[in-house]
Amino acid sequence: MPSHHPEKRRTGLVLDPVFERHATGWGHPERPQRLSELRKRLDADGLTAACTIIPPTPAERESLLSVHTESYLRRLEQACRAGEKFIDTPDSQICPESWQISLLAAGSVIEAADLVARGQLDNAFCAVRPPGHHAESGESMGFCLLNNIALAARRLTGLHGLERVAILDWDVHHGNGTQHIFEEDPAVFFVSLHQSPLSLYPGTGFASERGKGDGLGTILNIPLEAGTSDEQYLAAFENSALASIEKFAPQFLLISAGFDAHRNDPLAGLSLSSRAFEMMSLLSVELAWRVCGGRVVTVLEGGYDLEVLADCVSFHIRALLGTAEGPDR
Ligand SMILES: [Zn+2]
Repeated sequence: MPSHHPEKRRTGLVLDPVFERHATGWGHPERPQRLSELRKRLDADGLTAACTIIPPTPAERESLLSVHTESYLRRLEQACRAGEKFIDTPDSQICPESWQISLLAAGSVIEAADLVARGQLDNAFCAVRPPGHHAESGESMGFCLLNNIALAARRLTGLHGLERVAILDWDVHHGNGTQHIFEEDPAVFFVSLHQSPLSLYPGTGFASERGKGDGLGTILNIPLEAGTSDEQYLAAFENSALASIEKFAPQFLLISAGFDAHRNDPLAGLSLSSRAFEMMSLLSVELAWRVCGGRVVTVLEGGYDLEVLADCVSFHIRALLGTAEGPDR
């Protein structure tokens, strides 16, 4: 069982109504209500008050160019300003404000990583949208415009000079963008658990994809069959994902946290309960305390059932604060 850390931790929280202004059109699952409902829940649970609010900060051009191409950034900005309805794929809906909001999402995740890297906070949760893990360096995919977590990882290996950063991606969809950005980079270990690419978007994330060149061996894909339940998932989570991160001995842990592997989620076919997400939260925070001084920044990706999202994020933040009760196993 995870050990208790009774002392109060300094947990940062990116949570601001500005992220609800990225409009995706009627019927789109990645909708502003995901965050407005979450905000209500976190306020009601006293978690907004318990955390240090990190004000939204726009990402600088130089940071963006550590991950994205100049031509993509120009295209994205122009498409938003021109009032286009989507970029690259109808999945990735945009509105005129989406460029500025994307900069704020990316910049706030970078800022959270900065504050934790400097020891001003112990850890942080970033409730931002648009999400990021499908975004490639030069292309939008799957509701994602800028790859928020990749930008934070590059900040840590760049400005902060870290030699080993791990990204744990438990969104039910494969984090194709993050994988491709780091597949040749030995400083960033990317581990993704997701529903099999044979039955779910984006169709990548086979176990055979393990990195390239200097990065060979620093990508770990754990595809799972539709219908996978708590027990099977948690076994893979602990014995493969967390064990491999521990072996890599990262100096900082980043989590791409999607909550769409839940059985109530409308977009995918894994069958996890909320209790599984509680275990995942506790185990990964515990791992961070064991291997990297507790330094973890969690970034919201998917999760489309509003109640599940609010429940699971509320628990995750309590795990970061060290005030969550561990479920019996
Ligand atoms: Zn997802």
